Amino acid sequence: MLVLEDEPRIVEVLESYLRAGGFETTLCSTVEEAFAALHRSQPDLMILDVSLPDGSGLDVLRETRSSGSLLPAIVLTARGEESDRIVGLELGADDYVTKPFSPRELLARVRALLRRVDERSAVRNDAGRSLRIGELEIDQITHEVRIDGKRANLTATEFRILAILAGNPGEVFTRARLLDRLRDGGNIYERTLDRHINNLRRKIERDSHDPAYVLTVYGVGYKLKS
Ligand code: CA
Repeated sequence: MLVLEDEPRIVEVLESYLRAGGFETTLCSTVEEAFAALHRSQPDLMILDVSLPDGSGLDVLRETRSSGSLLPAIVLTARGEESDRIVGLELGADDYVTKPFSPRELLARVRALLRRVDERSAVRNDAGRSLRIGELEIDQITHEVRIDGKRANLTATEFRILAILAGNPGEVFTRARLLDRLRDGGNIYERTLDRHINNLRRKIERDSHDPAYVLTVYGVGYKLKS
């Protein structure tokens, strides 16, 4: 596991907790060291501080994602730095923890993330084409969606929104990231996104005002229940 953090006190606590939790750590205190470490070996997860002497952990995240790697990443952000959190999620961070944090909480997040990654790949290997979450079934090939065994008739855009969210269940998609992905294949405008989401909910949720699948993360975006 790669830990990019420059505050000795935090590094010390993190290392001892992660080691006690059975994780091997590669400690880096600069962006440059992190790139060198990633070049040498592929960790199973990275923990990235935002503010470092020679840059930001978000640069490491950006670079990793743009090379197509889905290496799980948790971003450490300072309290009150909402923009770091949002940028981190937009760049594809899997989770974030706000400083000051309890090392036990971080360890729990690490474990939860690794579990999610395992489940994700299990679902991919197992079915490949179809994804099942609770009573919701999504077939990526035929574009059929079933809820409680009954077919839901989604528009192309509604299906795409659901398919994007289902690509990483439990992961928060900011509105900007969702719009960005939707724009790849046609135009959709910010003001119509909510309408598409509402329509989608009407078709797949038992109670569209109290959704069980397509969840709103207030102030950030949307996610699919995992
Ligand atoms: Ca720092």
